[in-house]
Amino acid sequence: MDSPSAVDFEVVILGAGMSGLCMAIQLQKAGIRDFVVLEKSAGIGGTWWDNRYPGAQVDVPAPAYSFSFAPNPHWTHRFADAQEIHAYQQRLAEDHGLLPRIRLGHAVVEAQFDAAAGRWRLSLDDGSALSARFFVCSTGPLSRPRWPDIAGLADFRGRLLHSARWPADVDLAGRRVGVIGTGSTAAQLVPALAAARARLSVFQRTPNWVLPRMDRRYGRLDRWLVRRPAYAALARHAWVQVLELGRRGFDEGTLARGLMTRTAVAHLRRQVADPTLRARLTPSYPLGCKRIIYSNDYYPALALPQSELVTAPIQAVTATGVRTADGREHALEALVCATGFDTVRPLAGLRVMGLGGQTLDEAWRGGPSAYLGLTVPGFPNLFLMLGPNTGTGHTSTLLFIEPQVGHALACMQRVQREGRRWIAVRAGVFAAQDAAVQQRLAGSVWSHCRSWYRDENGRIFAIWPGFTGEYVRAVRRPDETAYELG
Ligand code: NAP
Repeated sequence: MDSPSAVDFEVVILGAGMSGLCMAIQLQKAGIRDFVVLEKSAGIGGTWWDNRYPGAQVDVPAPAYSFSFAPNPHWTHRFADAQEIHAYQQRLAEDHGLLPRIRLGHAVVEAQFDAAAGRWRLSLDDGSALSARFFVCSTGPLSRPRWPDIAGLADFRGRLLHSARWPADVDLAGRRVGVIGTGSTAAQLVPALAAARARLSVFQRTPNWVLPRMDRRYGRLDRWLVRRPAYAALARHAWVQVLELGRRGFDEGTLARGLMTRTAVAHLRRQVADPTLRARLTPSYPLGCKRIIYSNDYYPALALPQSELVTAPIQAVTATGVRTADGREHALEALVCATGFDTVRPLAGLRVMGLGGQTLDEAWRGGPSAYLGLTVPGFPNLFLMLGPNTGTGHTSTLLFIEPQVGHALACMQRVQREGRRWIAVRAGVFAAQDAAVQQRLAGSVWSHCRSWYRDENGRIFAIWPGFTGEYVRAVRRPDETAYELG
């Protein structure tokens, strides 16, 4: 158990979301009990703590959104909502005795590697300090809300909200509400606000591809079956394979691409009768370039008489609403920014210094990159969970987290076994792997539009280009020759 006064650990894990919890559980299973989890928020859950806007759900089937070692017999639907997922995380933490090892409300502001000691020296925002042999950054790629860069935003006198910081006390029923953004978040939020009879102005800069959401309620039989380990494993495996088929849809000229695009077009035609509105909702880039939306209620919510899709560009936010480039003033009582996350600088606010005092910001001048998304040359004993180029547009991030944890653990165990101070990826190995990933991404579907997968220079830094299976095989057991030890 973590003593509240302990300051020196074998492992410090930053972030108590899915990947931080998984790391902690696997450390315990491997007999490494000298660790602490630091979480900046007041509760565990990471993205599921942050994203509590009305309608928040996951868009991969729940069996694939559970860890292979922890099937969940409590899912009530194929697509779980944020509350159920948070309850799953809470149970994981309780069942594995993690709660005493999690320190809430703690943020690390500086991490410096001491090569002589082979330890990370961590400074926290309350002025205290910790040290750890290994430092696991599991802060998640979608943890820093991005506010839109729109003139006058600060002048708005109504309620200004970001979807990823939703206050519990807000009630928008019957109000005139503007929503900026039409990504996965907005597609969930808009129907929920419409159901609360909000009068909506949805400001769309770019339309998205929307596919039907094949949800269903799980009955008693489903819940009974999932308690049988063999069934749970089979159901999860089957969903993983189905999701993997969707990856084919990202490749030009494939049967899957054609089928998915035709399904999306038919879905729009079925749900939106007005051809003008349909045209404004039709993307001009290939399906998959931005994250695909799965929804049955987004289009119908937009087609309601009390909703308006606004496609004229936003000129400014005023004290009373939004002014668009066509000169219209949209009077609003609340303005919701569903404008996503700062993915290019996921660790902003944390200064990480590796060998020779080099900072991660300096190493990432050309954009974030890491060997298999996990390790960075010159930054020994540092492991990034869901790091650069490990994002996925077609499947569950949990499938990426589990082998990443296995990889990090094997590296730690090697250092311990061989009595060394540190382990770091070789610069040449990292460069070759990064170049191969970038080569595969060049000209890929993700290069055809603006999205959170790309930086300001167009480099795709967030997405894994291949199938999940490829990544799992590459990462699960570290190639010993890829690493040097000190
Ligand atoms: P997002 O995909 O980055 O979408 C942000 C939206 O805001 C886009 O429509 C963007 O328009 C718009 N926007 C940004 N700045 C703007 C500006 N200055 N003026 C006008 N519009 C602006 O963010 P998100 O919807 O929060 O989703 C982020 C990711 O979170 C998703 O891709 C997904 O991976 C994850 N997520 C998952 C689920 C789930 O069900 N599992 C749910 C929600 C989110 P442009 O397209 O023109 O840039």
